[in-house]
Amino acid sequence: MTQDGDVQHPIVIAGAGIGGLAAALALAQQGHRIVLMDRARQLSEVGAGLQLSPNACSALDRLGVLDALKPVVCAPDSLRIWSGRSGRQLGRVQLGSFIEQRHGYPFWVVHRADLQRILLDKVRETPGITLRLGAEVLDLAPSPYEHLVCIYQDENETGNLHCRALIGADGVWSKTRKIVPRHQNAHFSGQVAYRATIPIDKVAPRWTRDSGLWLHSNSHLVHYPVRGDRELNVVALAEEAWQDETWSAKADKEALLHRFKDWPSDVRNLLRLPETWLKWALCSVDALGPWTHGHVALMGDAAHAMLPYMAQGAAMAIEDAIVLARHLPGDVKNIPAALRAFERSRKPRVSHIQSIAFRNARVFHYTGVPALARDTVLRLSKPARMTARFDGIYSWTADQ
Ligand SMILES: Cc1cc2nc3c(=O)[nH]c(=O)nc-3n(C[C@H](O)[C@H](O)[C@H](O)COP(=O)(O)OP(=O)(O)OC[C@H]3O[C@@H](n4cnc5c(N)ncnc54)[C@H](O)[C@@H]3O)c2cc1C
Repeated sequence: MTQDGDVQHPIVIAGAGIGGLAAALALAQQGHRIVLMDRARQLSEVGAGLQLSPNACSALDRLGVLDALKPVVCAPDSLRIWSGRSGRQLGRVQLGSFIEQRHGYPFWVVHRADLQRILLDKVRETPGITLRLGAEVLDLAPSPYEHLVCIYQDENETGNLHCRALIGADGVWSKTRKIVPRHQNAHFSGQVAYRATIPIDKVAPRWTRDSGLWLHSNSHLVHYPVRGDRELNVVALAEEAWQDETWSAKADKEALLHRFKDWPSDVRNLLRLPETWLKWALCSVDALGPWTHGHVALMGDAAHAMLPYMAQGAAMAIEDAIVLARHLPGDVKNIPAALRAFERSRKPRVSHIQSIAFRNARVFHYTGVPALARDTVLRLSKPARMTARFDGIYSWTADQ
């Protein structure tokens, strides 16, 4: 029988992305030994901006990385919402000190690579965590003695590792998901995100003061500063049939400009600035599908990848890590029951936020009369009231 109380074997985490690194730290805080594997040989600079709302910052504080993040994050005063048709401002969500006073934690924006590096530095200095890069988790081996044996592939061999539990933090195109019966596959949304970063001294001040969200028919644009105000992160989202399982496919700038041909000229000039645009296909995984099976649990995008229209994908992965560790104290006796309890406690919140992201995906891209009605509501809404609409999401803390 698998010995749940037996601390001889480690917990294996598949994936050293944002969720896997956070889970390694949170589980190590509970006294577990961790083997953290990532198929990438090195955790590279791929990626661009992520938003860290107060709930994410509370979790990062628990992991002990909040101070290390301060030099590389930005804290915009507002999110300004603009019409991509007229170029006029439609509304404003108050962030900055307003949101920090309201929730006790700031609203930050960060480059994914900076967040990953800082979590990685913390992992490297934390006793009890072994990091294995270039090691891809493939499956569980059938074991006549019901030992949990994880199969992985590194550059030398296909190896076996006995473990107490396997945590699948291997992202939207997860392999470990297939271990969980009746799992849901990633579903392509029909939308593609083009992203680039631009040195801040190359753009006019109007782009860098606040975060921006621009709405147009079947497309929208998001921008905010990252890397301690040294770069502007720009993401342009549009409907497109292209699908690919990577984060860094090279995008055709001319095709992007063509898609945004009826946008205001200053937006088009901004889109002309980056030499290189990358793109990724927006996919989701139904959060209501199963996350656990025996000693295996999925978390983060592997369990519930969401469209980026509520900017909570990374936050949910980091929250998962805290709640997972809470259900797995070092002396846990029944790991399958603990993992099921983790799934039960997270699902309502995560599926609710996923459904808001789906709704926003429709609302952001409205055309015709619904777009006019949306714009009118935005114009009439007070900035503080707009912020308060998200209290239920942002008020989560690691102590709950
Ligand atoms: C390279 C990259 C760039 C990204 N860029 C952006 C961005 O610009 N903006 C944005 O909003 N979101 C981006 N994301 C997604 C964002 O990080 C996630 O939505 C969110 O942080 C949830 O994180 P996660 O840990 O669940 O998954 P991820 O952050 O996707 O991490 C998954 C990790 O698992 C590893 N992995 C995959 N399969 C295996 C396997 N079988 N065995 C071992 N390791 C495996 C991957 O190499 C990766 O490091 C990016 C993700 C990646 C991997």
